[in-house]
Amino acid sequence: MMLKIKRVPTLLSNYQKDDDEEGSGCGRNCMGNCCIRGTKLPLYTFKAIDKMIHEKDVVENEQRGSSVAFLDSLLLGEWEDRMQRGLFRYDVTACETKVIAGDYGFIAQLNEGRHLKKRPTEFRVDKVLQPFDGNKFNFTKVGQEEVLFQFEQSEDNETNFFPNAPIDVDHSPSVVAINVSPIEYGHVLLIPRILECLPQRIDRENFLLALHMAVEAGNPYFRLGYNSLGAFATINHLHFQAYYLAVPFPIEKASTRKITTIHGGVKISELLNYPVRGLVFEGGNTLPDLSNAVSGSCICLQDNNIPYNVLICDSGKRIFLIPQCYAEKQALGEVSPELLDTQVNPAVWEISGHMVLKRRQDYEEASEGNAWKLLAEVSLSEERFQEVKALIFGTTACRDNEDRSFDMMMADEDDGSPQCSNEMDAMKKRTPPRMVPGDQECVVKQ
Ligand SMILES: [Zn+2]
Repeated sequence: MMLKIKRVPTLLSNYQKDDDEEGSGCGRNCMGNCCIRGTKLPLYTFKAIDKMIHEKDVVENEQRGSSVAFLDSLLLGEWEDRMQRGLFRYDVTACETKVIAGDYGFIAQLNEGRHLKKRPTEFRVDKVLQPFDGNKFNFTKVGQEEVLFQFEQSEDNETNFFPNAPIDVDHSPSVVAINVSPIEYGHVLLIPRILECLPQRIDRENFLLALHMAVEAGNPYFRLGYNSLGAFATINHLHFQAYYLAVPFPIEKASTRKITTIHGGVKISELLNYPVRGLVFEGGNTLPDLSNAVSGSCICLQDNNIPYNVLICDSGKRIFLIPQCYAEKQALGEVSPELLDTQVNPAVWEISGHMVLKRRQDYEEASEGNAWKLLAEVSLSEERFQEVKALIFGTTACRDNEDRSFDMMMADEDDGSPQCSNEMDAMKKRTPPRMVPGDQECVVKQ
């Protein structure tokens, strides 16, 4: 049996609308091979801070420095520019938003513009890993005007900014683009190695990239989120989302209970008294320690076909991992009609407590009770959650050998580097980013 749900997809790009009609051939100034050569885009490079926690104070001081404010202002400046140019489908700053009374402070937003008046599309929700399909919409088809800048690790271990850097097609840049259906100010997409056309699946290297973006932004109001297939991602091309919200998410305020501290100093806890069961990762001797603990868990979930969402908070210091089963229940006809009628898709933002509502009635009647009721349907049962935890912690063997890296991490090894030989090899094969000398018009020094 194949499980599917019907939903109206949210447009992340203005070029997604043409999806059904568009063949190959272009002339739209897109990010694909047809148009990309010779293109220049701003380039922000960050320095690796592998010694993050050992030199915590140093790093934190640096984070308060110019580079941090710089990424923030670059992102928001470029985002505002796209708003002036009318690239968004609606004015998100005009959407009504309120904090719902109660202990958790769920946030309700009325967003009628986000909803497309279009026929629903069928989405397969019972396969977390699906191969990339170049015929479907993907981010190489977005217009270059939707792309804000390239985001890369620097070669010289300095934070640099190049306002007009050529795109290195052979290296495949990671880019930050606008989401044309924003749910908050500064809503963007981080698309790692855009030209490699990676499917929506977490791997170590690109999860670390997302974590670096959170660290570089250095702003507690800036969070990144990830939805797997089967957990309300609609585009099977690797991407993270991110935006600014100037209040804490309810999930950030939920209490937690420590489960364990693993090798590398990463503390893993579980959420308590929150409608959705989930894990919380924090600490770690280095940023890769924290990153690998989370990405290893994500890889385990993916390989066991368990849909999940990830929220990166606290400037990259705290990460929530939430396995979920709403779409599966929906496909099996197990979700109540009144919840379905709201057409709320419980992706990472909703799960974290930012409820994006499509109907005024739901907005007017929004209450902590209603939010709780929806999110409780998203959560795995206690029994299933225990099974999933057992999978992640290696009590039950994960299927793929890739997953063993996580077990190994829990064992007593000590180089702090990714443990999976396959991925290590893949990383060694990657050509280092090439900087074009002479194009450097601005260097941001710490
Ligand atoms: Zn093109």
